[in-house]
Amino acid sequence: MTTDFNELNLHPQLVQALVELGYQAPMPIQSALIPVMLTGRDVIGQAQTGTGKTAAFALPILQNLVDGLVDVQALVVAPTRELALQVAEAISAYGKHFNVRVLPVYGGAPYGPQIGKLRRGVDVVVGTPGRLIDLIERDVLDLSRVRTVVLDEADEMLSMGFIEDIEKILAETPATRQTALFSATMPAEIRRLADSYLKNPKFIAIESEQITVDTIEQRCYIVHADDKLAALTRLFEVEEVTSALIFVRTRSASGDLANELTLRGFPAEALNGDLSQDARERTLSRFRQNQLTVLVATDVAARGLDIDGISHVFNFDLPEDPEIYVHRIGRTGRAGKAGIAISLVTPSERRRLAQIEAFTRRKVSRGTLPTEEEIRIYREKQVVNQVSVWLQRGRCRRERELVAELQAAGYDVLDIAAAALKVARAEEKQRPIAPISAVPEPLPARTARPDQRPAFNPERSGTRRERLYSERSRNERSQGERSQSERSQGERSHEAGMVRLSLDLGRQHGIRPNDIVGAIAFHADIPGNVIGKISIYDRTSLVDVPEMFAAQVLAKAGMVRIRRQPLNLQRA
Ligand code: AMP
Repeated sequence: MTTDFNELNLHPQLVQALVELGYQAPMPIQSALIPVMLTGRDVIGQAQTGTGKTAAFALPILQNLVDGLVDVQALVVAPTRELALQVAEAISAYGKHFNVRVLPVYGGAPYGPQIGKLRRGVDVVVGTPGRLIDLIERDVLDLSRVRTVVLDEADEMLSMGFIEDIEKILAETPATRQTALFSATMPAEIRRLADSYLKNPKFIAIESEQITVDTIEQRCYIVHADDKLAALTRLFEVEEVTSALIFVRTRSASGDLANELTLRGFPAEALNGDLSQDARERTLSRFRQNQLTVLVATDVAARGLDIDGISHVFNFDLPEDPEIYVHRIGRTGRAGKAGIAISLVTPSERRRLAQIEAFTRRKVSRGTLPTEEEIRIYREKQVVNQVSVWLQRGRCRRERELVAELQAAGYDVLDIAAAALKVARAEEKQRPIAPISAVPEPLPARTARPDQRPAFNPERSGTRRERLYSERSRNERSQGERSQSERSQGERSHEAGMVRLSLDLGRQHGIRPNDIVGAIAFHADIPGNVIGKISIYDRTSLVDVPEMFAAQVLAKAGMVRIRRQPLNLQRA
């Protein structure tokens, strides 16, 4: 199976779009399905959402488009408006260098714009069955020249009672068409549909890995590469690590990190390809039996590792491929138990993190590392707790005799206890708390030059998000006070790679930056932290979103509500 998009014989402009979206290698369904679909053969894909099936059918559709036709060339039938929008948006994104005309059609939306666009010419229609039939019956949707039909989430359509509609729609398309049917399950009714409407289909099943298990808490810390070890040891101080698997990129890094951790008071061992089979087995068995708490591994060495009860997975280095991230963190949170996945992310890896978040459709929360002071307080609390436990148990007969001896020798009881604590804390010296340098916040569009940005101070109170907002509201206040001409100048200049959107709700409607971030992130399903500068005026607001998410945000514009108010969201 290929690991390179170039080997799939895709048009360079399609590959270019994939690269721009941050896709590094085809997902299994794409490697398996694209070559078959490119030959024109019918396919049945047994795959769930999240496996990358949309690109698997969208790329061959795009590759096979013929330029300059008015007719609809491909049709995707999807059970819900959300899926139709999502698929349409994905096809537009993959085909952005082709200027492909994609039209999502679904019930509930006015007919006028859909009909207008159909009249002007559309390459790919993505629609829900009911609206497709309506448009066919109104004689505005002509499917007689469609070359590819995709039935997406066929089992969903079956359970929603759409099978008859699908049959009607298929009857409108040429018998010579290519048909691709996707379904997560294959009930008899779907097999019957396939038998009746597909010709000699190739069956491709993809085992879908549960994309990020919901029992896993995902967190990350933004640190400079040189501070990763210090950050990790700080986290070891305060996390309740009972069993940790740390992933690093290379074999040698695994050995080095295990040594460094051991030297700093956190005994760890490496699991890498340098170990003999015997040594590997011994290490794993000690890890399994909890004689060893921390294991540092490469992806290759951890392959096939099947251990329950891992409390923490650490990504010392972020993997290049979001799928590997999912694989890695899936080692914790197993058997329904809670698990914690922590990633150390350098400032330049933020983009990779955003890709992971887009892939898993889950937000990785940004943590603030414990300060030296917090660690000291934590350590003291722990010693006091341990002492309290022994005080309650009261099984210290011999120790009491020793204290009595010291007292008889003339020492004060308080001094004896203090000295005993000092002895108990001697091992803390093995665990020095190394300083960590601040990472500046990636503030969105701003008036200050980069060298004038306020330095990020992890010691400051408030969460990262709160600080970002307070920066934004400062920005917003100053913008609100500017003159109209200054304002329009400000509106034109925004950060590279960002697209500015306008919305028709503003201060008069009680809108705050958090409302905008929350509503857009939720409805468009994008990470809130990628949303850039926000400016709120009396009746309108502006928001910057990354170019790669703009289509996704605009596609969901109709669903976005802020404080229960519908709004008009469009490019500024
Ligand atoms: P789907 O199953 O089509 O809904 O895709 C699931 C997610 O995977 C979507 O967010 C896609 O953008 C993303 N995706 C699809 N193909 C790739 C790829 N080759 N590399 C990285 N992400 C991908």
